[in-house]
Amino acid sequence: MLKFSKVVLKKGKEESILRFHPWIFSGAIDRIEGTVEEGDIVIVHASDDRFLGIGHSAIGSIAVRIFSFHDITPDLAFWCSKFQAAYSLRHKIGLTTRKKTNVFRLIHGEGDGMPGLIVDFYNGTAVIQAHTVGMWLIRELLAQALQVVLGKKLKAVYDKSAKTLPFKAAIEPIDGYLLGKQITKEVMEDGNRFIVDWEEGQKTGFFIDQRENRKLLADYSFGKDVLNMFCYTGGFSFSAMQGGAKLVHSVDSSAKAIELTNQNVELNFPADTRHEAFTADAFDFMRDINEKYDLIVLDPPAFAKHKSALSQALQGYKKLNSRAIQQIRPGGVLFTFSCSQVVTKQNFREAVFSAAAISKRNVRILHQLSQPGDHPINIYHPEGEYLKGLVLYIE
Ligand code: SAH
Repeated sequence: MLKFSKVVLKKGKEESILRFHPWIFSGAIDRIEGTVEEGDIVIVHASDDRFLGIGHSAIGSIAVRIFSFHDITPDLAFWCSKFQAAYSLRHKIGLTTRKKTNVFRLIHGEGDGMPGLIVDFYNGTAVIQAHTVGMWLIRELLAQALQVVLGKKLKAVYDKSAKTLPFKAAIEPIDGYLLGKQITKEVMEDGNRFIVDWEEGQKTGFFIDQRENRKLLADYSFGKDVLNMFCYTGGFSFSAMQGGAKLVHSVDSSAKAIELTNQNVELNFPADTRHEAFTADAFDFMRDINEKYDLIVLDPPAFAKHKSALSQALQGYKKLNSRAIQQIRPGGVLFTFSCSQVVTKQNFREAVFSAAAISKRNVRILHQLSQPGDHPINIYHPEGEYLKGLVLYIE
């Protein structure tokens, strides 16, 4: 039987845990019985010694992330049950049996009761991204559990955690295959094919979270001149082309992203002259796009990674959106997003409101967008709601 150190909370600090919020802040801890290193599994008790949960410890303001509110043994069978529950959810919402989509998020951190862990499934390859040392330390066990749950559907497991682990941790992670080897890097989303580069690409290689929003864009694209700003590997561009856009311009500041976009255009729409890609900075490119586009997508990277950067980030969203709202053709439609976790829905809405107000144009909200079902939000952990989008009609 494994023996874990015990973390005892101060009196009254158990309330949020009893409501299944998975984080324990360092200030809530009264004492630790035993020794604890970053990433160790610990058992959490209330001041009256009631069992509260079991989780991974970390250095920092979030001292423990709970992965079970039951008194379990965190062995292979336990992690299999977690993955099985997550897989069942994806199966129930139809993501595992779609003919034209073979990419989905299998584990979305707190949303799947596994704080600090992301697992994306790319047509047979599971890409694991640990955000905590605790999850990284058990990566081999997690890979085994994935194999048990996914069976033949799983061909390989790739660990891509080197850049997402806390930089202060005294570990030296190296990305690589934990199981199997590369079979194919081609995936399909709603009939569009993509080369996903999980080794060199951003995040786990692809932005799965925009799947449903890309589908909506297709419905708005027929006969339109479209600008896909912050295109990465071209996701929104292909939806626009699929939807019958007249012209599509894809822009990203990363030359590597533009190269991948062009490669993906060839896969889906060989020699299609409607599409052109540009390596450019968004703010520069949008300085002078006067009435060139009917449909604009703005999907920038997170402008604020921490609360301290919030006000600067909101200025960034305002500036970017004001360029689009001022210059879009009359009767144009803008899909605008924020994926910063610290920017609330309200914050983002206010930034876009300010941008609209400067333009003095009549602006209406057509849709309010969010993240899809394979990026579930634990209702007890609202911090997990990170993707916000607005679709605007600009007269
Ligand atoms: N819409 C994409 C994901 C966008 S991720 C999709 O559906 O897949 C954000 C992208 O913004 C990244 O590719 C990054 O290279 C790019 N980027 C970051 N800063 C930029 C800037 N100042 N100008 C243009 N692109 C930028």
